[in-house]
Amino acid sequence: MSTEQSTPEVDVDVVIVGAGGGGLAAALAAADAGASVVVLEKLDAPGGNTALSTGSIPAAGSRFQREAGVEDDPDRMTADLLRQSGPHEAEHLTRRLAETSAALVEWLVDDHAIGLSLITDYKHVGHTVTRLHAPRSRRGIDLSNDLVAACRRAGVDIVTGNPVTELVVEDGAVRGVVVEGERTERHVIRAGAVVLAANGFAANRDLVARWAPELAGLEYFGAHGSTGEAIEWGLELGATMRNRSAFQGYAAVAYPHGSILSWTTQEKGGVIVDSRGVRLGDEIVGYSGFAAEVLTGTAPIWAVYDARIRDITLREEEFAELVEMGGAKECATIDDLASVVGVDVEALRSTLDAYAAAARGDEPDSHGRTDFGIAPLEPPYVASRVSPGLFHTQGGLDVDDDARVLRENGSPVPGLFAVGGVAAGVSGQQGGRGYSSGNGLLTAVGLGRLAGTAAAEGQA
Ligand SMILES: Cc1cc2nc3c(=O)[nH]c(=O)nc-3n(C[C@H](O)[C@H](O)[C@H](O)COP(=O)(O)OP(=O)(O)OC[C@H]3O[C@@H](n4cnc5c(N)ncnc54)[C@H](O)[C@@H]3O)c2cc1C
Repeated sequence: MSTEQSTPEVDVDVVIVGAGGGGLAAALAAADAGASVVVLEKLDAPGGNTALSTGSIPAAGSRFQREAGVEDDPDRMTADLLRQSGPHEAEHLTRRLAETSAALVEWLVDDHAIGLSLITDYKHVGHTVTRLHAPRSRRGIDLSNDLVAACRRAGVDIVTGNPVTELVVEDGAVRGVVVEGERTERHVIRAGAVVLAANGFAANRDLVARWAPELAGLEYFGAHGSTGEAIEWGLELGATMRNRSAFQGYAAVAYPHGSILSWTTQEKGGVIVDSRGVRLGDEIVGYSGFAAEVLTGTAPIWAVYDARIRDITLREEEFAELVEMGGAKECATIDDLASVVGVDVEALRSTLDAYAAAARGDEPDSHGRTDFGIAPLEPPYVASRVSPGLFHTQGGLDVDDDARVLRENGSPVPGLFAVGGVAAGVSGQQGGRGYSSGNGLLTAVGLGRLAGTAAAEGQA
């Protein structure tokens, strides 16, 4: 596009589109490298999906793991993520992000005072060792607030309520952005490089229907800003999408609360049943992959676990709040449980008996589950009503090892970077099943740091 003479212009080294985890990490890295940086956020507050997440970032070989006696390295992390994702179109990113992950979390904590520590009480989906690093509260809003504070200390401008509507492109190179909104007059910010950190397209039903129609049945539980325009700008410049069908689903959004029912309830031995009182699959495929199984059940859907599992999971703040709000109903007997869940008691008894036999090792599990936590379940039982949801899309623009957007022929679009949900993710090509815990923030914050450093090169 070209700019009109009357449109006011500002110049900076690096413009970042989107103030979620990816954009804020990119801004910090670019500022560290001496660049002048502005972050433009279309909504009235920074945070995006990052603020709604549990803030868990995987890293292999971090000093926090060493201090906890956890042996890990990037090869193991790469193998773990690829086992979960299966082969895919951006495997170079899996390797690159694993190799830079320890430096990423150490940089966040040591250089920028971001509050992260190693989660030692669960590993979650895809990981063979404990490698998720999260705020103590396990709330992404704390990660987001820490990143915003670090950006302010680093002299980064974060401007909210400023939607980017177009890229400024001259002779095939990206040279800035156009900003225009209901409360913001059209203006141009010229820059040496632009980092697209605007997340994916899960909040845009038209793009979901076009790019990932299999997600259409899932209700979206993420932030409203993920409307996919940044991916469209990249495509207009000749870029391609990779791993387009990948997404993070969540099988157990607490109903009607809308918060996450921790998957620890399942990993420790719980099950998911539908209105017929039957289980819907192997819960250990993970909270993302299991969302598709839940769609095959008949509502209402309930997670069933027991008081021991509830008490273990109470360490997680969001779960504790759900319990406080009445989202975990204790039932003394199977009859009580059947009445709370609203299913035929004999059907439920038969399901739980068969599951207990599998957990004891007396019989193979009818759904192939092999990890039962502390099951068989014991009274008192606990039940939480849940529904499946879509958290974010993982497919996006093809990028190189430093998040430069690539055209179909493999050449970079000069001046353009993409991170997080705008970039190809590392969750494979099998819908929600390829998602390992932390893949979302890994591609956001991990690629963000790499993009910020590369975008600042030669500009400061
Ligand atoms: C409930 C929930 C729990 C999750 N838990 C985890 C977890 O524990 N670990 C994990 O790895 N992932 C998790 N995820 C996924 C994770 O939150 C996302 O993958 C990650 O936050 C994406 O970061 P991002 O910076 O790419 O996008 P976001 O954090 O969404 O930030 C993008 C920002 O760009 C803004 N924006 C969009 N378009 C424009 C525009 N045109 N102009 C200006 N601004 C724009 C948006 O408003 C938004 O603020 C979870 C997601 C949800 C919904």
